[in-house]
Amino acid sequence: MSFHQSAGDEFKVRPGFKSRIDAIRANYFSRDPNLWPFYRDPGLARYLELIGVPKTQEELVADYPGGAPLRERLQTDSDIPATMRAPGDVEPMLLYAASTSKQWNNPASAENVVTLPCDPAIYGALLGVTANANLVCREYSESAEDLEKLIVRRIAKLVGYDVERADGIFTQGGTFCNMYGYLFGIRKSLKNSIKNGFDKTNNYRFICSQGGHYSNNTALAVLGANIEEKNLKIKMDAENRVDLRDLEEKLVACFRLKCAVPTIMLTMGTTDTFGVDCVKPTRDLVDRLCREFEVETPPHIHVDSAVGWAILFFLDYDFDANPLEINDATIVGLRRHVELFRQLKYADSFAVDFHKWGYAPYASSLVMVKDRASFKALEHDPEQFSYFERSQAERFHLQSTIEASRSATGVFAAYAALEYLGMEGYRTLIAHSLQNASYFCKRLSDVPGATLLAPHNDGPCVTFRLYDPGKVSSPKEELAFELRHGAKEENRSRLANNTAYHRNDFLERGKSILYTNWVEYAAHTDYDERNACARIPGEKAVFFNPLIDPERIDAFFNLLISRQNRAKS
Ligand SMILES: *Cc1c(COP(=O)(O)O)cnc(C)c1O
Repeated sequence: MSFHQSAGDEFKVRPGFKSRIDAIRANYFSRDPNLWPFYRDPGLARYLELIGVPKTQEELVADYPGGAPLRERLQTDSDIPATMRAPGDVEPMLLYAASTSKQWNNPASAENVVTLPCDPAIYGALLGVTANANLVCREYSESAEDLEKLIVRRIAKLVGYDVERADGIFTQGGTFCNMYGYLFGIRKSLKNSIKNGFDKTNNYRFICSQGGHYSNNTALAVLGANIEEKNLKIKMDAENRVDLRDLEEKLVACFRLKCAVPTIMLTMGTTDTFGVDCVKPTRDLVDRLCREFEVETPPHIHVDSAVGWAILFFLDYDFDANPLEINDATIVGLRRHVELFRQLKYADSFAVDFHKWGYAPYASSLVMVKDRASFKALEHDPEQFSYFERSQAERFHLQSTIEASRSATGVFAAYAALEYLGMEGYRTLIAHSLQNASYFCKRLSDVPGATLLAPHNDGPCVTFRLYDPGKVSSPKEELAFELRHGAKEENRSRLANNTAYHRNDFLERGKSILYTNWVEYAAHTDYDERNACARIPGEKAVFFNPLIDPERIDAFFNLLISRQNRAKS
């Protein structure tokens, strides 16, 4: 009997759940040509054969038949062929490069917020690629644009926006969604910015979380803002959420000085620890302070929910009846998240990455807005769009987008995923992620020297830290010490030594059983008197992969436990 079978009932995969996830794997993730005949294409079929056996990256490359010269050419070739190549056989480099790319269908893959796309989404993307619709304008997209709008309506309804007022566009990734989030605020608050950019007279501060994704900085830098001096980073509480008191202090300081705050960037589901900011209290705070200080243009509240948005599928789930038979260990945290994600509708805009927890291929991101007037604020002078039909330019988002050509591939992929998986499929996949994550957390407590870094976050991402069991008798207390005192100069080396132990173990284990990854900033120490904190690195596993099961998690822990026991003796 495996450990999982003897675990407490609340962690077990219940029978009804098991049959559902098995059916989903068989129907939507098996690359089965009998279900999805496009996989019969000889090139795709050969590719699937080559990647069919789970391997490490090194093995994939080493085992590739006749791979060495291809690899050599791949890394050195600089010549375009002089003549044409007749269609027919699969061009060898295409096949080599595809089948030695990262193998996401490996049931050991748990690195970061990356997905194994489902068969229907791949199929949808293929149709979309072939149709080659360009969402830059109606004339080049026709029905593809209607399909985009259809998805926008569905997500608007899911979140609780007014479907008639809401709007959205597909764009190049979550980073671009966040860039739009900043841009909406800039165009609304700094009235001449569309022509004059940021000029010296602009008195502005942006606000984001210290726990935000790096795009919260990089996207803003691309827009030309002074991120060193004018992007205020709000402190986080112990659960990696924006500290509302710090937010209030900073907002008051800005409004007192008549300083514009174009955008407040929140996060629902931080990439490493799944911290979820509270939107409603932020909205209430902003409304109150704007009245108090007579702020003419309130800050635009954008939520970076690139990872977290998928929780929306559960907003009207019947938790009492629990028809999917989600286990008890998972239900509690999921319910808590659902209450938080009910607040997403108070955001002015938010990011949706279908290519993460949405099981669609890249790039499939959607930026949603509560009120289409936000796009209006982005409109450039129609004179600039002289080679489009004037009637077109004014009716669609042509004048408002950052991009010109805009691929519809993500639209077709997302539509197919939504249509084939439906609420039932998405809920099952997401609950499966969360069940694996909660089981992983439970098993971690069996490992000498291990402790969780965000024990209350109940998300699909689990971060932990391993200490030398020969030196550290209570990992919880050691972590508590690091959190409390790690920012102090005299404790930096203790923190660094602990990190070195874990890092070394992580590297020695290599990619085996469950492919985790290393993050430099998995937690932060408490703030010192100068409001500084230190970063605490750790190891992370993300459970998006539908092919991971509790037995694999057990096997991973057998390895961890035996290594830690060896280190101890
Ligand atoms: C992944 C991620 C992003 C960036 O999205 P891309 O699609 O990779 O550009 C932004 N924010 C969060 C929280 C993310 O996890």
